[in-house]
Amino acid sequence: MQSPDKEKFRDSIGTINEEGKRAWVFPKKPSGKFYEYRKIVSYFLLLFLVAAPFVKINGNQFLMFNILERRFNIFGFPFWPQDFHLFVISMIIGVIFITLFTVAFGRIFCGWICPQTIFLEMVFRRIEFWIDGDRGKQIKLAKQEWNAEKIRKRLLKWSIFLIISFLIANVFLAYLIGSDKVIQYVIEGPAEHLSTLLPLGIFTAVFYFVFAWFREQVCIIACPYGRLQGVLLDNKSIVVAYDHKRGEGQNGRKKWRNDEDRKALGFGDCIDCVQCVHVCPTGIDIRNGTQLECVNCTACIDECDTIMEKVGLEKGLIRYASEDEIEKKEPFKLTARMKGYIAVLIILIGVLTGMLFLRNDVEARVLRLPGQLFEHKENNIISNVFTYKLVNKTSQEIDDVSFKLRKYKGNIKLVSTQKDVIVPAQGLAEGTMFIEINKKDLTGDKNKLMIEVYSGDKLIETTTVNFLGPRSYN
Ligand code: SF4
Ligand code: SF4
Repeated sequence: MQSPDKEKFRDSIGTINEEGKRAWVFPKKPSGKFYEYRKIVSYFLLLFLVAAPFVKINGNQFLMFNILERRFNIFGFPFWPQDFHLFVISMIIGVIFITLFTVAFGRIFCGWICPQTIFLEMVFRRIEFWIDGDRGKQIKLAKQEWNAEKIRKRLLKWSIFLIISFLIANVFLAYLIGSDKVIQYVIEGPAEHLSTLLPLGIFTAVFYFVFAWFREQVCIIACPYGRLQGVLLDNKSIVVAYDHKRGEGQNGRKKWRNDEDRKALGFGDCIDCVQCVHVCPTGIDIRNGTQLECVNCTACIDECDTIMEKVGLEKGLIRYASEDEIEKKEPFKLTARMKGYIAVLIILIGVLTGMLFLRNDVEARVLRLPGQLFEHKENNIISNVFTYKLVNKTSQEIDDVSFKLRKYKGNIKLVSTQKDVIVPAQGLAEGTMFIEINKKDLTGDKNKLMIEVYSGDKLIETTTVNFLGPRSYN
């Protein structure tokens, strides 16, 4: 157990100094095996992130979250407000999957997959290294007077950051309003679409603020997922961890000296070079133990491995490991909690698959016109008026639409100026209809009617309505 003094680092955040001001982090440029792997993963994810709103499957945008029109596409499947339950189940599956992953592998999502980390570490930070140089040069530049060199470097960096933020904002907009609209707006010019230019400007400003200034504070202060770590992690979770048993030995860490036998003197393998601290993008010392600021970016693993290699010690002083693995040499195994999450996940995926399978391509809704009861017409005909709404979830137009009554004899008259009801692809058709039934065919004052919707001869959907009539029929 660590003494209260050793736990003192938990009282403050590494990026806020004692006066409560922002302590700017100047991380060293990472390098090593994991960084190379992360680069490959990042290229793939960046490509996916940028391409996803522009790729189409069966005419449907691959990913779209059109909140204003309440239309969502996930992996090319269109979800309408009527499918909200499916959308919610998909989101719950996503949350449980990330929770399970976090319980098992800590914040691996933050380090490898989160767009915030990918854009910050793999795009913006690399541009910064390219323009300002590595950690030492960046610190020097920050301290130096505003001379020609500093002005040139800052202007260049901020301009590039602004352009990239603007591009990200456009991609973000494509997720929100659809890529077709974004492309159309670009072709027609911003002057034609001033109402879209404002949100685009706001998104650009937010992305610029986040990546040029707020940076790691998003992960430390703002991200709710980061806050959950304390609840989700336990001693069996695999995280980026410092092997304190090996690193501290019996007599603690000590600077490297070629002429001494550390083992015989009881010193640990940590040579206190502080490179793992210098490379950390959230400014923490992983040797203090698992901390909420750690985004599991693996930069310290790479850095420490390089140092270990240089001094001829075994790599892996900082590595992916659980607390129990370090303390008790216990290998990773599934805990009861993980098994529970897996079971829930399998059930939910089964439910979602079943629901997707049973989902109709067309959704019909027929509702009574508000405030209307029934009308008594000539020849004992009772008439009710309804509105209908047909939602076409496919990318094919549905034409020659007609409505028929099941079981009941009667007429359905559509109030329309057009001959044919057509439901456009990914669109809806709505209108008003009268249903007329002879009084003698009704069985009470409330009659449940089933309406069949046809496209040509093909039955595409059924729905029910309540048909009202007079109380007595004798
Ligand atoms: S990089 Fe490794 S050896 Fe150097 S201080 Fe960190 S843990 Fe110790
Ligand atoms: S402690 Fe290591 S893994 Fe965690 S954020 Fe810092 S460098 Fe990345």
